[in-house]
Amino acid sequence: MSESAYREMWEKLDLDLAAHDGLLEVLGKFYGDIYLSQKGRLNGAEYLDFVLSEVHGLRIKELQDAKAQGKKVIGTFCVFVPEELSLAADAVQVGLCSGADAGKELAEEIVPRNTCALIKSFIGFKLAKLCPFTESCDMIVGETTCDGKKKAYETFGEHVDNMYVMEVPQRKEASDRELWKSEVLRFKDSLEELTGVEITAERLKEGIRIVNEKRRALQRLNALRAAVPTPISGRDVLLVNQISFYDDPVRFTENINKLCDEIEERIAASEGVVPEGTPRVMLSGCPMAVPNWKLPWLIESSGAVIVGEESCIGTRNSRDLVDESGETLEEMLDNIADRYMKIDCACFTPNDERPQNVESMARELDVDGVIQYALMFCQPYTHESIKLDRRLSEAEIPVLGIETDYSMEDAEQLKTRVEAFLEMM
Ligand code: SF4
Ligand code: SF4
Repeated sequence: MSESAYREMWEKLDLDLAAHDGLLEVLGKFYGDIYLSQKGRLNGAEYLDFVLSEVHGLRIKELQDAKAQGKKVIGTFCVFVPEELSLAADAVQVGLCSGADAGKELAEEIVPRNTCALIKSFIGFKLAKLCPFTESCDMIVGETTCDGKKKAYETFGEHVDNMYVMEVPQRKEASDRELWKSEVLRFKDSLEELTGVEITAERLKEGIRIVNEKRRALQRLNALRAAVPTPISGRDVLLVNQISFYDDPVRFTENINKLCDEIEERIAASEGVVPEGTPRVMLSGCPMAVPNWKLPWLIESSGAVIVGEESCIGTRNSRDLVDESGETLEEMLDNIADRYMKIDCACFTPNDERPQNVESMARELDVDGVIQYALMFCQPYTHESIKLDRRLSEAEIPVLGIETDYSMEDAEQLKTRVEAFLEMM
């Protein structure tokens, strides 16, 4: 599609074209510095570069084409929203922008300043008319995870059409599971009403299969990246995880499996993207939504390699599959409810699974250290970071806690701290 056709499309979506041009320019430069400058990238990274270069272009055109065919677009902010159901209702589910501080000042007019950068980002993108994904949505699904998000959705809902909020329980008792199952059913009914498509057992089985295949491809990638020498950079794997929320799931799975085939060849030839002996670091904590690449870039440009991300844009989203043995609609809905209840988000209390998962992941990946990442003002993850710090220290796994936001103002200071940590490891 030509540049002028894209501009026409963005104009129809009521984007602020001048501000949007500025955003794409900054993003392009940032991507060039952080991604395209890497040496020894896999050929399969071309897929990542292409998706990113067309994230506001071709992908948006695909969404518009889907809408012209009568399909609906569902926007989400959290891994609790079951994509299996959206696919079964013949809808397209996409993650919404929340990884850059564009529009921050506008966001701070309607939410407190001491709100995390992720929340300010999705509000800022909407108010500054910068996000073609948000503008393409027929329904935007929020969720009652942390307090910041649930209050922000009240205000955000005044600025978008068709805001829908799922209630996510805060504990994991039997009654919480019951509540969550009823929310899964309510979401199913709302999707059916919006799309006019009945979610049958046959349709849901296919939705479960497609999303499981996507998660299997991510699991395969996560297993392969652990090889020594490390065959793929942490930045590229983070990008794969970020793209998993935007691209068509079938196309994504196919391309990531091809990337994994190439990684297997690299492993067989004992080739790495960094020399053997490069310090291995694991990231743990808040999700890093696109284009939040600051910390991974600082870590990897300081001489380490990231071999795992324990976050929702990482293993927390791909670790568990939906049991595919269900045959009736009821069985499948139960299996979906069970799978999502395994998510160990810091919003749960108690949340004993997460420290266990972090420690065992660090051991399995044989990391030299863990960097805990929390967005400033994120209560759930900063609280858990204190406990996790203690647990990892007791297990003699070096750990560094970083609290930051999306601005680059602290980049130098963070780099100094990361370098000191790498030396200490
Ligand atoms: S960290 Fe919690 S609230 Fe955020 S995406 Fe993950 S599950 Fe949702
Ligand atoms: S980063 Fe923390 S405060 Fe921000 S939305 Fe996620 S859980 Fe809430």
